[in-house]
Amino acid sequence: MSSKVKPLLLKPSLHEKMWGGTKLRDYGFDLPSEHTGEAWIASAHPHGPSTVVNGDYAGKTLQEIWNEAPQLFGGHEKNAAFPLLVKILDANRDLSIQVHPDDEYAQAHGEPYGKTESWYILSAKPGAQLYYGHTAQTHKELADAVHSGNIKSILRTVPVKQGEFYYVPSGTLHALGTGIVALETQQSSDTTFRFYDFDRVDPSSGKKRPLQVEEALEVTNVPHKDPEIKETTQTLGDAKITTLVNATYFAVLKIELSGSANLNMNHKYMIQTVIAGNGTLKVDGTDYQIKKGTTYILPNQTKDYKLTGNLQIIGSFANK
Ligand code: ZN
Repeated sequence: MSSKVKPLLLKPSLHEKMWGGTKLRDYGFDLPSEHTGEAWIASAHPHGPSTVVNGDYAGKTLQEIWNEAPQLFGGHEKNAAFPLLVKILDANRDLSIQVHPDDEYAQAHGEPYGKTESWYILSAKPGAQLYYGHTAQTHKELADAVHSGNIKSILRTVPVKQGEFYYVPSGTLHALGTGIVALETQQSSDTTFRFYDFDRVDPSSGKKRPLQVEEALEVTNVPHKDPEIKETTQTLGDAKITTLVNATYFAVLKIELSGSANLNMNHKYMIQTVIAGNGTLKVDGTDYQIKKGTTYILPNQTKDYKLTGNLQIIGSFANK
């Protein structure tokens, strides 16, 4: 093994979904079908880990490296699971109306993490909207609407534009809507409770997808309350860096660069994805060409790094 510090360049795991489409091709991914919904671009989750494509760990999954080389992530407890999962989603149709449990509920049911998530909107067709929260004031009002088939009457819809950011704490009723492509930064969890799936039949199985209405009712926050998050911005070299959220589980930030910037890596490790443009990442004297769709992890040993080019990047780091 060389002692040079290298970023871990990642290849995603791709997932077909009945609501998926073909827009993930714009990010350079080889799609398994015309209904590709999710690219898990930074994942150590057993349901779809990403794979490292360069350096000493080429060919290994992020899950394997997390276990075999914990020093790259600043160390962790022996059985800890990698805390984050970053995806790009193509909502060619509405996703199911859903909710995710918090850590406490997830751990009581044998999962390491609940799921707080967030969306950076990469593109949205005119008129696109998402579902976020509900208008029920009591659990009974929520349960009555759901059980009587009137969940639509209490859903809150929000019009969506490119470049917006949404923070979705566990317990928030939500769904991405038709025509949205989003980068999702979330806790590493694949636990979803579906309230409603628009009575659709999944063509791959010929059946409706299962609902988990009682679990969903159990974990939904009532009444809904919008989280308070505030963005902060700083300029470093030619880079404008906006912290979109810095909360309990993770932080998400956006780097907009036209020119070059020397940046410090002040975290245990950091995930970055190029969402537009192209350029160069320099780490420990070596240049890496990066472009729209490139995802990498800057490991713990990265003191500083240099970005050059016209680039928009979404970065994240874990806070737990
Ligand atoms: Zn979700």
